[in-house]
Parts: sequence; C-alpha cells; structure tokens
Amino acid sequence: MFQTLSQKEKNFLIIFAANYIGIVMIYISRDVHFCAAHKLYNEKWSKEKNEEVFGACANENWHGHNFDMTVTVKGPVDPETGFVINFKDLKRIVNEEILDKVDHKNLNLDVDFMRGKLTSCENLIVEFWKILEPRIKKNSNARLHCIKLKETNNNYAEYYGE
Ligand SMILES: [Zn+2]
Repeated sequence: MFQTLSQKEKNFLIIFAANYIGIVMIYISRDVHFCAAHKLYNEKWSKEKNEEVFGACANENWHGHNFDMTVTVKGPVDPETGFVINFKDLKRIVNEEILDKVDHKNLNLDVDFMRGKLTSCENLIVEFWKILEPRIKKNSNARLHCIKLKETNNNYAEYYGE
C-alpha cells in the first residue's frame, strides 16, 4: 500500500512515524549556483526538428545558463551536534562532487558523467543524484532527499530518487 502513495503522502507518514517513536526528521537544504554551457541536440533528428523541440537550446554553437540548485537532505538530529549533517560537510561534498565538475564547463564536452546524454535539467539531476546519494550516506546519518535544478527563472526540475 505504501508504494501507491504519492511522495507527499509518504513524507507525511515517515515524519509522523518518526515523531511517534521520538525521532524528529529534519530537512535541510543548501543552495548553490553554477554557470555552464550546453546544447540540447538529438543526433537522430534533423536540424529543423531539433530547433522545433529544443528551441534556443539547440543552438549549434552552444549557449550558457546560470543554474541554481538546491540540495535537500533529511535525517534525525544528532544529539551531540544538534545537526542533521554539518553544513560544512554538505558544502564540501556538493562542491567536490558536482560544482568542481560542472561550473564554467561545457556540460556536453567537459563532464564525464554526461557524455552521450542529453544535458537537460532532468538528466543532470539524475546523474547528480547517483554521485551525491552514496557520498552523503557514507558521511552522515542523513539521506539525500531532493535535488532541485533551475535552468531559468521560470523552469526547474526536481528529483527525489525514485
Ligand atoms: Zn539551454
């Protein structure tokens, strides 16, 4: 039955259960910013179809975005520190694993884990998740909860690992 619930309902039940047994589940987030170039282009399609589907993002000679990303982790509060995860550690992990690899880079050409993939927000956050999730688990009692990536002021994608 749990499987059929929405993410919102699942989160509600998890928090409810955690509170019931005396564990408080807290969500903490870190906002980061990076600039990167890319091109959205499906090689199997004609130039016209690429332009029709991807619009300005299909521009042959690349273009850039100012990306805003929010990484949210959840976990119980450590009684010794009062933290879910030390923000200093979260900062280091996100910087080392993601920002150092994508900031001021060409996402199609310079980023190993995006090679051969369409560099959409959706595909980026799925790859970011694969990298961040085990690293956060290894370094704390916290778990990665959500990655939100904003490509423009109006458009963003979110991933909850499912
Ligand atoms: Zn674009």
